[in-house]
Amino acid sequence: MNIDLSRDYACKLDEEDELASYRDKFLHADADMIYMDGNSLGKLPLRTVGRIKQIVKEEWGTNLIRSWGINWFQSPIQVGEKIAQLVGAAPGQVAVGDSTTINLYKLAMSALMLRPDRKKIVTDTLNFPSDLYMLQGCAHVLGGKHQIHLLEPADGLRVNTQAVLDAIDEDTALVTLSHVVFKSGYMYDAKTITEYAHQKGALVLWDLSHAVGAVPVELDAWGADFAAGCTYKYLNGGPGAPAFLYVRRDLQKDALSPIWGWFGERAPFSFELDYMPAEGIQRFLSGTPPVLSVLAMEQGVDLLLEVGIQRLRKKSILLTSYMIDLFDAILAPMGFTLGTPREVEQRGSHVSIRHADGYRINLALIEDMNVIPDFREPDNIRLGLTPMYTSFQDVWESVNRIQRVVTEKRHLRFPETRHAVT
Ligand SMILES: *Cc1c(COP(=O)(O)O)cnc(C)c1O
Repeated sequence: MNIDLSRDYACKLDEEDELASYRDKFLHADADMIYMDGNSLGKLPLRTVGRIKQIVKEEWGTNLIRSWGINWFQSPIQVGEKIAQLVGAAPGQVAVGDSTTINLYKLAMSALMLRPDRKKIVTDTLNFPSDLYMLQGCAHVLGGKHQIHLLEPADGLRVNTQAVLDAIDEDTALVTLSHVVFKSGYMYDAKTITEYAHQKGALVLWDLSHAVGAVPVELDAWGADFAAGCTYKYLNGGPGAPAFLYVRRDLQKDALSPIWGWFGERAPFSFELDYMPAEGIQRFLSGTPPVLSVLAMEQGVDLLLEVGIQRLRKKSILLTSYMIDLFDAILAPMGFTLGTPREVEQRGSHVSIRHADGYRINLALIEDMNVIPDFREPDNIRLGLTPMYTSFQDVWESVNRIQRVVTEKRHLRFPETRHAVT
């Protein structure tokens, strides 16, 4: 392989980058910092700062409760419609509010209620632990009759499509997976899995947390039943920004949320004593939405809609491919192994690199080198490449600084004991 390892080459790639100008739409408070964690907490869009001031001063401060009638009440649906455009969903199927975990719970319970005679839930050990805890909670609440079938990745990185299909049978109520998995960045073939599950009569719930805003998602075209995902990762919605959920339109009349609340009621302000679910996706809302967060998050979504998912994916592939080329040339010879699939169609927008001393190398990068990746047990350093604002020089610079940490043995000065948040 003949890759140009010079910084000049990274500069040339930046000059050719058609999304380069979007970098300036985010706050880069420290010009020397290489931020490689946009897949965990996206950067702050500059326009969000002004919008938050306006929401607080005018909408809350001045208009007070009148704002509910102006733009607040509809905000979970209205912002949901924007996210729908990023996940290939026609109008009327996406709403925002609550955390990803809570939305997953609503949807998984809804699915299990729709398949009361089936006992099997298919998922994998690559799934985010909160997703697995949520499923264990569902099984517990439903009396312990469900069996959670956990697929294991043969190579540590991915579960082959065929292995997923083989696990789905006539007793399967629900198949639920992360479209892009959080550790290795492996991306599932969602369409094939969804179609096969339907042949067996099972429902499918996709967690899009590491996919939305990074890779093309086509919920309607896949025929997906349910989906949920984060907005504080690639959508740059801010810490704790509310998650979204999707329920396919033709399921909505039968699907029920397990949490019946007034925001999901047909006529919340008639204050009837008996719950009547709203028509459509609104029935999956529960209580008062976090309006400040919903409206702040909308700014990040608007920016992504401006760019469009195809252009984001194109740049994301260039970034991850460049990172893997540099990895092969520089880091592999130093004892790192690649923790992400090499096949472009099988990966999302982050690259994991593995090293026996990964925990300490990650610490040295943060504390000594002003590079911010994150660490996922047991040995993964995750490098999130966010097409909205990560530059090719960022990629070059991070590999260069990783190399320096190891050659200069800087990581050996850090303890092995884990911090509470990694
Ligand atoms: C980030 C992430 C979550 C986070 O869930 P919260 O309820 O928002 O904390 C859930 N699932 C996956 C796959 C994630 O990557």
